[in-house]
Amino acid sequence: MTSKSTNDKPPFWVTGIKTDPDGTHRYICRYWCSCGRVGRHYVAIGTEEIHCHVCGLYIDVEPAVDTDGPPIRNEHGYFYVAKG
Ligand SMILES: [Zn+2]
Repeated sequence: MTSKSTNDKPPFWVTGIKTDPDGTHRYICRYWCSCGRVGRHYVAIGTEEIHCHVCGLYIDVEPAVDTDGPPIRNEHGYFYVAKG
């Protein structure tokens, strides 16, 4: 047995952070929409709202952990949460 399967995952699966071609970091955000959709977005620091992939509703984004510094992951691995 090896841990090869771990190496096959894209880095952002592990880190929760995507980097855009222009160098912007986007952090994983869990959202719960009032339409019943539960999903995830990757958001840049300072993003105030995201939209539901299903119904298009805009939902306010909040830090998963209160901090004055860089985003911190909560116990579920999310940097931000949004509840519609
Ligand atoms: Zn929705």
